[in-house]
Formats: sequence, C-alpha cells, structure tokens
Amino acid sequence: MLGLGTWKNSDPEECAESVATALEMGYRHIDTAQAYGNEAAVGAGIERSAVDREDVFVATKVWIDNLAPDDVLSSTEASLDRLGLECVDLLYVHWPARTYDPDATLGAFNGLVDDGLTRAIGVSNFEPDQLAEAVERSAAPILANQIEIHPLLRQEAIREACAELGVEPVAYSPLARGDVFDVPELQSIGDAHDASAAQVALAWLRQSGITAIPKATGETHIRENWASLAVSLTADELERIDGIDRTDRKVDPGFGPWNA
Ligand code: NAP
Repeated sequence: MLGLGTWKNSDPEECAESVATALEMGYRHIDTAQAYGNEAAVGAGIERSAVDREDVFVATKVWIDNLAPDDVLSSTEASLDRLGLECVDLLYVHWPARTYDPDATLGAFNGLVDDGLTRAIGVSNFEPDQLAEAVERSAAPILANQIEIHPLLRQEAIREACAELGVEPVAYSPLARGDVFDVPELQSIGDAHDASAAQVALAWLRQSGITAIPKATGETHIRENWASLAVSLTADELERIDGIDRTDRKVDPGFGPWNA
C-alpha cells in the first residue's frame, strides 16, 4: 500500500540504510529506477534488512533510452544484476518518450514476464489515451500507472481512466516534493488530527484508493510517513482537499507527454 521512493537518495550508504530502515519498520514496497543510479544501494538495503526478499515488492523502471526491444532486455538484466535479484515484482516503462514504441516496447516487456525477469508490467507518466493503447497492446495486464499525484495535482482524468481500464494508480511526489507543508488546507486539517501536512496528504491518497511512494531518507521522515496509516480523515476533510483550487506540477520535463 505505502511504498518508499528513492529518487535522489543517491549516497549509496545512506540509500541502503533508508531502505533497510523502512523495511524493518513495516514498509514492503520499494520504488527505484535505472535513472536514479541507486539500484545497487536499494538491493544492498533489501539484503541488509531481516525481511525476506519474497515479502518485499520491488519496482524499477526502464529509462527512455532503453525502450527498444534489445535494450529493454539488456538494461533489465543489468538492473537485476545491480539489485542482486532474480526478478523484480514490477517493471515500469518510465516515460512514453524517446525510444518508446507501444508494440515493440510492450512486446519486449511481455517477453520479460514470460522469462520470469519481472512479475508484472507497469507504465509511468502515461496520459489516458496512451494508457488505453498500452492496455490494448500488452498481452500481460498493465498493473499500474505511476504518475504525479498530490493535493495540488489530483489528476482526476487519469485516475478515472485507470479505474475504467483496471490499472492501479501509483502516486509519485505525493508530498509535492516537500511543498505540501505550505498548503494551509493541509495544515489546518492536520491540526485537527495532531498530524503533519505530509501525513494528511498521504492519508488523502490512501483513502482515495491510491498507492503512494513518498521518498524519505532519515528514520524520522520514514517513520512519520508510515504513521500516516493511522490518520483517518473525515468525508468532509477529503472533500475539502478535493476542492483545493490551485494546481502545481513538480515534475515537468520537455519530453512529458502533456508537453507534446
Ligand atoms: P516526495 O516524496 O513528494 O517528497 C520527497 C521530499 O520530501 C524529500 O525532500 C524528503 O526529504 C521530504 N520528506 C519526506 N517525508 C517527509 C516528512 N515526513 N516531513 C518532511 N519532509 C519530508 O517527492 P519525490 O521524491 O519526487 O517522489 C517520491 C518518489 O516517487 C521518488 O522518490 C521516486 O521513487 C518516485 N518518482 C517517480 C517519478 C516518475 O517519473 N515515475 C518521478 C518522480 C518521483 P528527505 O529525503 O530528507 O527525507
């Protein structure tokens, strides 16, 4: 349900320690990517914790330079090598960009499922039409679409498409990269629950049926985010967050499909 993000957790020792700390605390979902340069550290953290590999859901993502079929295979083998794992639980197409071709890329991803290198296929940063196309072209189900979602970018249209297509929405940057602390609506709802704005944002996501993967480095943030599982917002509070009338997208590269 609640995972640990690792983008920019780039010091190998610190990253391994974050992962091990989270697993010891109860987290069971770790999110990394080829582009984060930390798959080896994530693998070291999993190895360091006392939690069995089989009890951990590990997701990584194939970068946009590696989405031609041969590169999907060789780069995923390299990811598994760095992670020290036989297979991942979820392998995402990181962005529908550069070398992405629906038939060729998803065909190669399906081959990896057949060969046991990943247990499931996901996509990331897909708009509704791209998601529908991916679902149609892939023989294996598309398990998840990982997109930016937080109270300042609620992504109703993509969430609706996910629901219609049977794809799980996974929320990246669920804390708006730290900016949720500046949202007065979250602060005032937090005051009523003796909770932080981060915990309110994570509770809103959970109660909206969305898996969040907040990135946190040290034990204090990792623990605070985990404790959001005990925060339960009222219907009225959820509605207030759903009604915030400002938007703020945090991850916006030129190759994002919404910029095409
Ligand atoms: P985020 O999780 O919204 O925010 C992370 C920031 O919030 C970090 O600076 C972190 O600081 C801080 N933080 C975490 N918990 C906190 C707490 N309880 N109190 C105060 N500050 C707190 O942003 P994100 O890293 O962009 O997104 C999360 C994950 O989603 C990434 O790490 C990555 O795994 C994934 N992601 C995927 C994509 C994609 O294209 N698929 C794009 C972006 C992100 P510390 O590190 O110091 O704890």
